[in-house]
Amino acid sequence: MKNFLTNLILWLVLLGTVPAKLSGVEVSQVKTRIFRVLLVIGDQWDDPASYVVNPPGPTGAYSGYDATPDVAGDLDFHHIAMLLKAWAIPFDIVRLDQQWLDRYMFLDMHGRPKYGTIIWDVNKSEKVLPQDFSIIAEMVKDYGIGIIAISDRISQPAVQDLLGLKYKGGWESNSVLKAQGTHFITEGISSPFVIDTGVIAHMQRQQAELLDGTLAIVEQGSLPQVTVRSYPSGGNAVWIGNDHSWLFSYEGMRTIFRRAITWTIGYNLYKTWENDAIMILDDPGGSANNWLEHWHYPELSAGIIEKYLVAPLLKHKAVLNINFVPAFVDDQKRRLEPSWNQNFTDAFGTRQDYISGKHGFDMGVKSGVFEVLSHGLTHMQPDLLSDPGWYGSALDKERSEVGWYREFGDTRRKKEIPAAEQLWRMQTSREWLSEQFGSAPLAFTPGGLGTSITYFNNTAKLAAQAGYGWYGWEYGYLGRDLAFTGWKFFGTPESPLIVGAPPDFHDFGISRQPDEFESVFDKYPQRRFMSINEFIGYLHSSNSGIFDPNGGSLSIDIDYDPVYCRFFQTHGSTWKLEVSDWLLQKAGKISSVTTDGKLFTGPATDIVIPPGTGKHRVKVVFK
Ligand SMILES: [Zn+2]
Repeated sequence: MKNFLTNLILWLVLLGTVPAKLSGVEVSQVKTRIFRVLLVIGDQWDDPASYVVNPPGPTGAYSGYDATPDVAGDLDFHHIAMLLKAWAIPFDIVRLDQQWLDRYMFLDMHGRPKYGTIIWDVNKSEKVLPQDFSIIAEMVKDYGIGIIAISDRISQPAVQDLLGLKYKGGWESNSVLKAQGTHFITEGISSPFVIDTGVIAHMQRQQAELLDGTLAIVEQGSLPQVTVRSYPSGGNAVWIGNDHSWLFSYEGMRTIFRRAITWTIGYNLYKTWENDAIMILDDPGGSANNWLEHWHYPELSAGIIEKYLVAPLLKHKAVLNINFVPAFVDDQKRRLEPSWNQNFTDAFGTRQDYISGKHGFDMGVKSGVFEVLSHGLTHMQPDLLSDPGWYGSALDKERSEVGWYREFGDTRRKKEIPAAEQLWRMQTSREWLSEQFGSAPLAFTPGGLGTSITYFNNTAKLAAQAGYGWYGWEYGYLGRDLAFTGWKFFGTPESPLIVGAPPDFHDFGISRQPDEFESVFDKYPQRRFMSINEFIGYLHSSNSGIFDPNGGSLSIDIDYDPVYCRFFQTHGSTWKLEVSDWLLQKAGKISSVTTDGKLFTGPATDIVIPPGTGKHRVKVVFK
């Protein structure tokens, strides 16, 4: 009988009807697991064109507290999209104020899952179109796709059934959040949960009754706030309660959210930023310092740059990200010209030697301690001619008016700058900087925060269209898919800390107190000062993955765009690989990891990818 069975299995293997790999326990019960997330929202996205992701403005309602009078709009969508992007976890968005749920939003045309998990963030709103919510249950119960539902965004009875709970409502409560028992999702999280510094908010606690088979892993007071449930299909369901606007203000909740992605899919490949910082210095190459009375100073010389910037940066293996201005406004010729040819004595009697400055900046760029960023084209108004007119004006009158020294909003005449003019300036800045330094900028910051905000003139949107990958010091990710403003979580595992170069974040400060610069390394002794292009490279990576239960292996492709991710052309990169406890149990321990076909010998939790843009393959074999 035993021989017969062995022969039968052998024949079935040869016929390809059972998994070739039989050593792993119950491997065949695990369904194919795709590394991609589908974020489903209601009407929280304020851009009907589904491109710009803004933090919501105030609702217009009064909070009843005079210290924080505005009731803020809902933050959940902005936070979730930002977190997924910051961790570089691949995702798509479905919005139910414009779309109708369809099975093929989740499946390919052959009926195979396209996503490993669904993030359910559908608010209760009249603007949400009529929907067949039973599709969600089908995806989890039949196809083994996971679901992570957020806070009170679970008004749909079909979703409550799936999560295994009955939702009752939310009431403001300050009781602390604590992990309960042990679970993969909460492992190692400090409990009670710690809220980010500076966050003062009145938070709702959700109340839900747990049905049989649903487990609470975090409680607030006595009420469950994070629950888990599993289905025979392999579909895992997680509910994360608390306040939809403020739950991600807890680092513990952000970690739970990321782990829930790992637990529902079975694995995860992501980036975190614990000890990273991006140091920025503004304005070299600009001309405002020649004309503006309160902002008057000489362009830095090669000697100062070498001694006070390049040398300490080399010593500390750090990068300074510099917002350069490639064009100079020449008052006598009444036109703009490339900045770095200028050498003259300005109207205040100060020598301005941009030629010397350029030698210094070249030194830093060549030795890899300066990164070239765009600070627009001139840092001045595009229209210097029409009333009240800047050319030839008196030093103590128009020339001393700060409004002239902004470029992407008309701060002199109180209006916006037209879209085409902004685009031309953004693109020309990149062209000129590329030629001047041999390095095309990927980050764009408008001078002096002068910006235009109506949809068609929106400076962030235009910078994305012009091909930049990050906006401003702190505004956010720009790409072909989405453009963010109001980015958050700097200085946490979710984003590097943004640091202004001492003493005043500008070349102005360096010109007066150059020795202050090095103090940055004492102030942030634990931080790694990185190139902003490295950050942009990770955010723009296009990753995908598939766990194939039949082969008992996991393949992840990391794809680096040659433009946005060009930092990785010459540098390696490191990713966190996290595999869920249940997948290890079913597939077996990790027996080998290869990157681009070569055996990777480091820890399987920190995958190192060799330099080179394009596709890299990480293959994880289980036994
Ligand atoms: Zn500036």
